Amino acid sequence: MTVPAPHPALSEINDAIRHAAKIARRKANDVSLIAISKTHPADAIRPLLEAGHRLFGENRVQEAQDKWPALIEAFPDTKLHLVGQLQSNKAEDALALFDAIHSLDRQSLVKAIGKAQDKTGKRVPCFIQVNIGEEEQKGGCAIAETPALIAQARDADIEIAGLMCVPPLNVEPAPYFALLAKMAADNGLTGLSMGMSGDFETAVQLGATHVRVGSALFGARG
Ligand SMILES: *Cc1c(COP(=O)(O)O)cnc(C)c1O
Repeated sequence: MTVPAPHPALSEINDAIRHAAKIARRKANDVSLIAISKTHPADAIRPLLEAGHRLFGENRVQEAQDKWPALIEAFPDTKLHLVGQLQSNKAEDALALFDAIHSLDRQSLVKAIGKAQDKTGKRVPCFIQVNIGEEEQKGGCAIAETPALIAQARDADIEIAGLMCVPPLNVEPAPYFALLAKMAADNGLTGLSMGMSGDFETAVQLGATHVRVGSALFGARG
């Protein structure tokens, strides 16, 4: 057994999650910290692995395929989540590499993932991404269409982990997190993937089960 090497930024984020959970009378163990390593090279990721962290997120299939197989070989209990938009033709590649998908946002992707699951025999939990701010340019399923997409995913035998959102930039995120939590409860879902470097504590207080933190762990992206 090697002793974990300290990682100050990781300790700080974990402390902040514990504090936010305590205020909300939640268990910190019910919140998973996903370290979002997109754009960062393997050398930047290794210190987190050496500190004992094992849950990471990437936003592009190709980049993850280039970076992660060697790291996973070195740290086999690592889990990798896809948090970025997924093209239907990459569904099979995504199933092969990732342990969860946070960006299921349309019927064509439900079909592609369902087909890839049938073909490969591998099933990974998926979060339905909701366009919670109803923003023109943003990925995610429209709020009104979310119950239908959940039903389609269930029909396709996709395991639904919960709901995911990225709220509008530069506005108070709490109302959006609260709305996502309500939508999840209304649809019988318990997982909530919400909260990033700037707002993960608020997300934890409003029920996040998965926070996705990049720059606060790795520094700014180039
Ligand atoms: C990049 C990214 C994050 C992490 O953002 P930070 O602000 O760097 O913490 C979280 N979620 C998604 C979907 C992302 O693309």
